Amino acid sequence: MNEKTVAVLKQAFKEFYFKNAEKIITPIRMKEREFGYMSFDKVMVRHLSFQTEGDLRAFLIKEMPHSVYYSCAYYYEPTFAMDEKGWKGADLIFDIDADDIPTRCKEEHDHWICKDCNFMDKGKRPDKCPKCEGMRIDEKNWVCPLCLKATKDEAIKLMDFLLKDFGITKENIEVYFSGGRGYHVTVERSALEELDQLARSEISDYVSGIGLNLESLGISKRASYEKMQRMLPLANDSGWRGRIAKFFSEMEFECYNSNDVKDKMIYIYRKMKHKNFENFVGEVIGKLSTKIDAMVTTDIHRIFRLPNTLHGSTGMLKRRCDDLLSFDPFIDAVALGEEPMQIFVDHSPKFTLMGKIFGPYKSERVKLPLMAAVYLIGKGLAEVD
Ligand SMILES: [Zn+2]
Ligand SMILES: [Zn+2]
Repeated sequence: MNEKTVAVLKQAFKEFYFKNAEKIITPIRMKEREFGYMSFDKVMVRHLSFQTEGDLRAFLIKEMPHSVYYSCAYYYEPTFAMDEKGWKGADLIFDIDADDIPTRCKEEHDHWICKDCNFMDKGKRPDKCPKCEGMRIDEKNWVCPLCLKATKDEAIKLMDFLLKDFGITKENIEVYFSGGRGYHVTVERSALEELDQLARSEISDYVSGIGLNLESLGISKRASYEKMQRMLPLANDSGWRGRIAKFFSEMEFECYNSNDVKDKMIYIYRKMKHKNFENFVGEVIGKLSTKIDAMVTTDIHRIFRLPNTLHGSTGMLKRRCDDLLSFDPFIDAVALGEEPMQIFVDHSPKFTLMGKIFGPYKSERVKLPLMAAVYLIGKGLAEVD
């Protein structure tokens, strides 16, 4: 990013924070949290602490950071070195990112460039360049409404696990659009606050369906069908067993029509045979589980993007979703205005912000509203020249 571009971005962020200072809400128990930020020069600063909402707002206007973060953890001394902070507890957090969900649209809108021979192709980045075998590959990942719809679906599934399987109340769960490529789910003010890394990894495995097998459903090669009939789950069972039984009760299979889900599962098991059935249940678990970034959930010192701050790679807000179903990131999280700005776009797929369609662009100079210009600049696809 050239200097002129950085200066323009900083100015846009500064004006936003200045005009919207009162909208910057501080997290609960702010004084016990560590804050950090990344500057536009990509320098990461951590171990900060703010005493009042005013301090935080003044800081944002002064520093114009690329990204601002706060710890999910509560500390006795948030500004001390990591092992001296004194950990009290941490919110339970989940990160759902489009990168982790293989949507088909990625084949169309993602591409990569070999830094050694400039060879470029669509789709997911290969491990090495097929032309020169170079390993220095630059990824240009885009995110489209389909990608974000896929991440929202994962967030909806996760909510279901948290509410039904873990008994967490709705009031303790906040869902946010991350401002970039997905959703963040935070559980605050709950008894889970004190859970250590290992316990959080159990929760992460549970919602991801890891460790679930046919035995947990009551199926084993050695069991008789009568025994299986006793052990198999019913659709209204709680937890994973009920989820899987419900899936089987609703699925269509060879016009099978009995309402007894156990009989149906045994019928399908006999038809498919053990190995195929096992693979099939694996696929079902894949569908019903939620694709979270386990590293984030198990990290009890994690710093997470601060709600209502700008995402440096999009100029969009990390924004709370009051109604997840109707939330539209390309409208509800758009933060910057429509002042015209001239930029040079290297390339960009077509995209929509606030109902306005932009692009596609290819090596051209265009005048765009600030929100769209910053969106492309943040993604490294355009510059101010
Ligand atoms: Zn190459
Ligand atoms: Zn997409």
